[in-house]
Amino acid sequence: MKIAYTVYSLELKHPFAIAGYTRTSTPVILIRLTYEGVEAYGEASMVPYLGERAETAVAFLKRVDWKRFVQPFNFGEMITYLDSIEKGNPAVKAAIDIALNDLNGKLLNKPCYELYKADPLKMPVTSYTIGMDRPEVTREKIVDAAGFKVLKIKLGGDNDKALINTIRSASDLPLYVDANQGWKDKRQAIEMIYWLHDQGVQLIEQPMDKADLEGNAWLTGRSPIPILADEAVQRLADIDRLKGAYHGINIKLMKSGGMYEANQMILKARSLGMKVMIGCMSETSCATQAGMALAPLCDWSDLDGPWLTSNNPFTAPRLQEGKYQLNRESGLGLEGIDPAIFTSCF
Ligand code: MG
Repeated sequence: MKIAYTVYSLELKHPFAIAGYTRTSTPVILIRLTYEGVEAYGEASMVPYLGERAETAVAFLKRVDWKRFVQPFNFGEMITYLDSIEKGNPAVKAAIDIALNDLNGKLLNKPCYELYKADPLKMPVTSYTIGMDRPEVTREKIVDAAGFKVLKIKLGGDNDKALINTIRSASDLPLYVDANQGWKDKRQAIEMIYWLHDQGVQLIEQPMDKADLEGNAWLTGRSPIPILADEAVQRLADIDRLKGAYHGINIKLMKSGGMYEANQMILKARSLGMKVMIGCMSETSCATQAGMALAPLCDWSDLDGPWLTSNNPFTAPRLQEGKYQLNRESGLGLEGIDPAIFTSCF
């Protein structure tokens, strides 16, 4: 196994603001594995609030004994091994998992979605995220969202109703809302949720503090629309205690450590009667296409990374009527790869 990688600054089209936080670019690491003459790709997106940095990711990649990964791949053993190197580091673990999934599909000559038994005809529409901004910029973002059939709005600030009114003055698309733990009082939150329901909002992500299980459960018991955990869930082991406190979970590959565990999480949530959204960080086509391969197994898809960034180094995935079109290529089906971007190797 040969490993090449590059540290890449993924630039955001608009500075991205959520409750309590803003940024203009995200460091990602792209990796390329070469095994028996086949090349495969993975990505780690390191949003700063999750604690990983390019340096920690590269150091982790160099601690991996790559000789352990041989066909037929055992993904369960792989993630146990990666966890034994060091806890945490879910994004770089995701990069390794995504690249090995791409490789596995290419060696078996099958698309990844087929290996996970995901039916392309069940692809949900994907939402386009609109961060907090001034009204004129918000209206510009709605223009950028042409082609999408649902918008995801970041709330949890001081002007939630004004922001929704701005959106509604420019669009009548269905909305998802992500409060990013921004609501502090459960009675005000439930009033807001009822008001949002009347505005055509179909679900709410992480209304209150992730540590406030009781407060989120109180809302879930009263809400007319699904309440999803996002910050409150990272990996498989987090799901059990969330049953009853949320209607569902938002799975992201950069939290779960990649596709294998994300699929385990989908199965676990289903076994508990919970709904599932698949989301993303600021990502190129690489991690987005890994998420797309699992999206038909989910109720909702929020995989808009390549559309919120301005320098995706790969061909953008194809979107039709607001839904991603999975291609028949083996592995992830990543296109437009420039070998020159992989500047480092070991
Ligand atoms: Mg969220």
